[in-house]
Amino acid sequence: MRDTILTYREMCDAEDVQTLQRGMNYRLSATYSVLLMSQRSNAPYKDEILDDGVTVIYEGHDVPKTRDIHDPKLLDQPYYTKHQKLTQNGKFAEAIKRSKLGEPQEKVKIYEKLFDGVWSFRGFFDLVDYEYATVYDRRVFRFTLRLGLDPTGADENQLKTRTRVIPTEVKKQVWVRDGGKCVICGATDELHFDHNIPYSKGGSSITAENVRILCARHNLQKGAKIE
Ligand SMILES: [Zn+2]
Repeated sequence: MRDTILTYREMCDAEDVQTLQRGMNYRLSATYSVLLMSQRSNAPYKDEILDDGVTVIYEGHDVPKTRDIHDPKLLDQPYYTKHQKLTQNGKFAEAIKRSKLGEPQEKVKIYEKLFDGVWSFRGFFDLVDYEYATVYDRRVFRFTLRLGLDPTGADENQLKTRTRVIPTEVKKQVWVRDGGKCVICGATDELHFDHNIPYSKGGSSITAENVRILCARHNLQKGAKIE
Protein backbone atom coordinates (compact mmCIF):
# COMPACT_ATOMS: atom_id res chain seq x y z
CA MET A 1 0.00 0.00 0.00
CA ARG A 2 1.15 3.53 -0.68
CA ASP A 3 2.95 5.37 2.12
CA THR A 4 3.65 2.21 4.08
CA ILE A 5 6.64 2.55 6.42
CA LEU A 6 9.27 -0.18 6.10
CA THR A 7 12.64 -1.17 7.48
CA TYR A 8 15.33 -1.83 4.91
CA ARG A 9 14.89 -5.59 5.53
CA GLU A 10 11.12 -5.40 5.00
CA MET A 11 11.65 -3.51 1.77
CA CYS A 12 14.06 -6.18 0.49
CA ASP A 13 11.66 -8.93 1.57
CA ALA A 14 8.80 -7.19 -0.23
CA GLU A 15 10.90 -7.28 -3.38
CA ASP A 16 12.15 -10.81 -2.73
CA VAL A 17 15.83 -9.82 -2.87
CA GLN A 18 18.72 -10.12 -0.42
CA THR A 19 19.83 -6.53 -0.82
CA LEU A 20 18.92 -3.44 -2.78
CA GLN A 21 22.24 -1.83 -3.56
CA ARG A 22 21.39 0.37 -6.47
CA GLY A 23 18.98 3.24 -6.80
CA MET A 24 17.82 2.15 -10.23
CA ASN A 25 16.62 -1.41 -10.77
CA TYR A 26 15.16 -1.95 -14.21
CA ARG A 27 12.82 -4.98 -14.18
CA LEU A 28 13.69 -6.09 -10.68
CA SER A 29 10.67 -8.34 -11.06
CA ALA A 30 9.14 -9.81 -14.19
CA THR A 31 6.52 -7.08 -14.37
CA TYR A 32 7.93 -3.90 -12.87
CA SER A 33 11.03 -1.87 -12.04
CA VAL A 34 12.12 -0.31 -8.75
CA LEU A 35 13.60 3.11 -8.03
CA LEU A 36 14.97 4.22 -4.69
CA MET A 37 14.86 7.91 -3.81
CA SER A 38 16.74 9.79 -1.20
CA GLN A 39 16.09 13.46 -0.54
CA ARG A 40 18.56 14.15 2.20
CA SER A 41 20.01 17.59 1.82
CA ASN A 42 23.27 15.95 0.79
CA ALA A 43 21.57 13.39 -1.43
CA PRO A 44 23.67 12.59 -4.48
CA TYR A 45 20.78 13.08 -6.92
CA LYS A 46 18.10 15.69 -7.26
CA ASP A 47 14.54 14.36 -7.24
CA GLU A 48 11.40 16.42 -7.20
CA ILE A 49 7.59 16.34 -7.14
CA LEU A 50 5.95 18.72 -9.59
CA ASP A 51 3.12 21.07 -8.59
CA ASP A 52 0.43 18.70 -9.86
CA GLY A 53 1.30 16.48 -6.91
CA VAL A 54 1.46 13.27 -8.94
CA THR A 55 4.48 13.72 -11.19
CA VAL A 56 7.93 12.82 -9.96
CA ILE A 57 11.19 13.71 -11.67
CA TYR A 58 13.95 11.20 -11.05
CA GLU A 59 17.49 12.04 -11.98
CA GLY A 60 19.51 9.35 -13.71
CA HIS A 61 22.77 8.03 -12.39
CA ASP A 62 26.38 8.99 -12.96
CA VAL A 63 29.24 6.88 -14.19
CA PRO A 64 30.60 4.80 -11.32
CA LYS A 65 33.50 6.23 -9.39
CA THR A 66 36.72 4.42 -10.24
CA ARG A 67 40.42 4.91 -9.84
CA ASP A 68 40.45 6.94 -13.03
CA ILE A 69 37.21 8.84 -12.46
CA HIS A 70 37.47 10.90 -9.32
CA ASP A 71 34.46 13.11 -9.83
CA PRO A 72 31.56 11.52 -11.76
CA LYS A 73 29.65 14.80 -11.39
CA LEU A 74 31.90 16.31 -14.05
CA LEU A 75 30.93 13.74 -16.69
CA ASP A 76 27.81 13.19 -18.79
CA GLN A 77 25.54 10.51 -17.35
CA PRO A 78 26.05 7.43 -19.50
CA TYR A 79 23.59 5.56 -21.74
CA TYR A 80 26.04 2.71 -22.26
CA THR A 81 28.72 1.10 -20.13
CA LYS A 82 32.25 1.02 -21.46
CA HIS A 83 31.45 -2.51 -22.65
CA GLN A 84 28.61 -1.08 -24.79
CA LYS A 85 25.86 -2.53 -22.66
CA LEU A 86 22.91 -0.40 -21.60
CA THR A 87 23.33 1.27 -18.22
CA GLN A 88 20.30 1.53 -15.95
CA ASN A 89 19.76 4.99 -17.49
CA GLY A 90 19.78 3.37 -20.91
CA LYS A 91 17.41 0.57 -19.90
CA PHE A 92 14.83 3.00 -18.54
CA ALA A 93 15.22 5.24 -21.58
CA GLU A 94 14.78 2.31 -23.97
CA ALA A 95 11.58 1.31 -22.15
CA ILE A 96 10.24 4.83 -22.69
CA LYS A 97 11.09 4.70 -26.38
CA ARG A 98 9.26 1.39 -26.71
CA SER A 99 6.21 2.80 -24.91
CA LYS A 100 6.10 5.63 -27.44
CA LEU A 101 5.91 2.99 -30.15
CA GLY A 102 2.87 1.46 -28.51
CA GLU A 103 4.10 -0.85 -25.77
CA PRO A 104 2.56 -0.38 -22.31
CA GLN A 105 4.37 2.08 -20.07
CA GLU A 106 6.78 0.49 -17.62
CA LYS A 107 5.41 0.16 -14.07
CA VAL A 108 7.83 1.47 -11.47
CA LYS A 109 7.66 1.07 -7.72
CA ILE A 110 9.32 3.95 -5.89
CA TYR A 111 10.68 3.67 -2.37
CA GLU A 112 12.06 6.67 -0.52
CA LYS A 113 14.55 6.73 2.29
CA LEU A 114 13.50 8.91 5.21
CA PHE A 115 16.23 8.07 7.70
CA ASP A 116 18.74 5.28 8.10
CA GLY A 117 16.64 2.12 8.29
CA VAL A 118 13.35 3.95 7.70
CA TRP A 119 11.87 3.68 4.21
CA SER A 120 8.48 4.45 2.75
CA PHE A 121 6.74 3.04 -0.30
CA ARG A 122 5.70 5.93 -2.47
CA GLY A 123 3.55 3.94 -4.85
CA PHE A 124 3.34 2.50 -8.34
CA PHE A 125 4.24 4.96 -11.05
CA ASP A 126 4.07 4.92 -14.83
CA LEU A 127 7.33 5.70 -16.58
CA VAL A 128 6.22 8.33 -19.06
CA ASP A 129 9.16 10.27 -20.46
CA TYR A 130 12.74 11.39 -20.10
CA GLU A 131 15.03 14.10 -21.28
CA TYR A 132 18.77 14.18 -21.55
CA ALA A 133 19.16 17.64 -20.18
CA THR A 134 22.12 19.96 -20.02
CA VAL A 135 22.71 20.95 -16.40
CA TYR A 136 25.60 23.35 -16.02
CA ASP A 137 28.17 21.85 -18.30
CA ARG A 138 27.20 18.21 -18.45
CA ARG A 139 24.20 16.11 -19.46
CA VAL A 140 21.91 14.27 -17.05
CA PHE A 141 18.87 12.05 -17.47
CA ARG A 142 15.62 13.37 -16.05
CA PHE A 143 12.95 10.69 -15.96
CA THR A 144 9.29 11.65 -15.62
CA LEU A 145 7.05 9.29 -13.66
CA ARG A 146 3.35 9.72 -12.94
CA LEU A 147 1.48 8.18 -10.04
CA GLY A 148 -0.51 5.26 -11.40
CA LEU A 149 -2.74 2.46 -10.22
CA ASP A 150 -1.36 -0.45 -8.27
CA PRO A 151 -1.54 -3.23 -10.88
CA THR A 152 -2.03 -5.82 -8.14
CA GLY A 153 -5.20 -4.04 -7.04
CA ALA A 154 -3.88 -4.04 -3.48
CA ASP A 155 -4.62 -0.40 -2.95
CA GLU A 156 -8.20 0.10 -4.00
CA ASN A 157 -8.69 3.21 -1.87
CA GLN A 158 -5.77 4.94 -3.43
CA LEU A 159 -7.57 7.16 -5.88
CA LYS A 160 -10.55 7.82 -3.65
CA THR A 161 -8.59 9.21 -0.77
CA ARG A 162 -5.08 10.26 -1.56
CA THR A 163 -4.36 11.36 -5.05
CA ARG A 164 -1.28 13.39 -4.36
CA VAL A 165 2.18 12.32 -3.37
CA ILE A 166 3.12 13.18 0.22
CA PRO A 167 6.46 14.99 0.00
CA THR A 168 9.40 13.23 1.61
CA GLU A 169 10.12 16.24 3.81
CA VAL A 170 6.60 16.06 5.26
CA LYS A 171 6.99 12.35 5.98
CA LYS A 172 10.24 13.01 7.79
CA GLN A 173 8.66 15.71 9.96
CA VAL A 174 5.70 13.45 10.78
CA TRP A 175 7.96 10.50 11.61
CA VAL A 176 9.86 12.60 14.13
CA ARG A 177 6.77 14.31 15.56
CA ASP A 178 4.83 11.05 16.04
CA GLY A 179 7.86 9.22 17.41
CA GLY A 180 7.71 6.50 14.77
CA LYS A 181 4.52 4.93 16.13
CA CYS A 182 0.76 4.81 15.64
CA VAL A 183 -0.72 7.98 17.14
CA ILE A 184 -3.71 6.02 18.48
CA CYS A 185 -2.26 2.86 20.04
CA GLY A 186 1.52 3.29 19.96
CA ALA A 187 2.14 0.25 17.74
CA THR A 188 5.53 0.32 16.04
CA ASP A 189 4.98 -2.15 13.22
CA GLU A 190 2.81 -2.23 10.10
CA LEU A 191 2.75 1.54 10.06
CA HIS A 192 1.95 3.95 7.31
CA PHE A 193 1.49 7.65 6.70
CA ASP A 194 -2.15 8.57 6.81
CA HIS A 195 -3.53 11.66 5.16
CA ASN A 196 -5.88 12.85 7.87
CA ILE A 197 -8.35 14.75 5.73
CA PRO A 198 -8.90 12.89 2.45
CA TYR A 199 -8.28 14.97 -0.64
CA SER A 200 -11.76 14.07 -1.76
CA LYS A 201 -13.05 15.92 1.31
CA GLY A 202 -11.00 19.04 0.81
CA GLY A 203 -7.71 18.14 2.46
CA SER A 204 -5.68 19.63 -0.29
CA SER A 205 -2.53 20.90 1.31
CA ILE A 206 0.15 18.41 2.15
CA THR A 207 1.69 19.68 5.31
CA ALA A 208 2.70 17.76 8.40
CA GLU A 209 -0.47 19.02 10.15
CA ASN A 210 -2.75 16.76 8.12
CA VAL A 211 -0.52 13.70 7.94
CA ARG A 212 -0.10 11.24 10.82
CA ILE A 213 1.18 7.74 11.47
CA LEU A 214 -1.38 4.95 11.86
CA CYS A 215 -0.97 1.21 12.27
CA ALA A 216 -2.71 -1.15 9.87
CA ARG A 217 -5.52 -1.87 12.34
CA HIS A 218 -6.38 1.78 12.94
CA ASN A 219 -6.12 2.56 9.28
CA LEU A 220 -8.68 -0.15 8.54
CA GLN A 221 -11.05 1.26 11.15
CA LYS A 222 -10.72 4.69 9.63
CA GLY A 223 -11.39 3.31 6.16
CA ALA A 224 -14.59 1.70 7.41
CA LYS A 225 -15.79 5.04 8.82
CA ILE A 226 -15.22 6.92 5.59
CA GLU A 227 -17.29 4.40 3.65
ZN1 LIG B 1 -2.84 1.77 16.07
